[in-house]
Amino acid sequence: MNVDSIQNGIVIDHITAGQGMRLYELLGLDELDVSVALIKNVVSKKMGRKDIIKIDADIPVNVDIIGFVDPGATVNFIKNGELVDKKTIEMPEILTNVLKCKNPRCISSCEQELSQIFRLTDREHKVYRCIYCETKWGG
Ligand code: ZN
Repeated sequence: MNVDSIQNGIVIDHITAGQGMRLYELLGLDELDVSVALIKNVVSKKMGRKDIIKIDADIPVNVDIIGFVDPGATVNFIKNGELVDKKTIEMPEILTNVLKCKNPRCISSCEQELSQIFRLTDREHKVYRCIYCETKWGG
């Protein structure tokens, strides 16, 4: 795969250097049968160093995960070799099925069919709380 010329796919740019691998794993890219390039420590005028992920396939990507791992990353959507959309991803208010509640007595731990839903309660310190039992994640 030529990492510079994606025809149809997604380029996740401006990832904080060192976060690319974590994002790669959380997005489940290792499990997909598509061409993915993780480029680490790219020199960036704006950031010093950054990571970039290029996905050469038109697949849905959970942008909430990107916003959770690295708010400020940009996602470029490419169709037929052209940039068609560019989004700066913010930390999402609600995270569904990304985090797992650590409280063993939480209803979401007991009832398997319930979604794991976390709400952002402190953007500055990146704190999320389980909507069922208020258990804190992060911070
Ligand atoms: Zn909970």
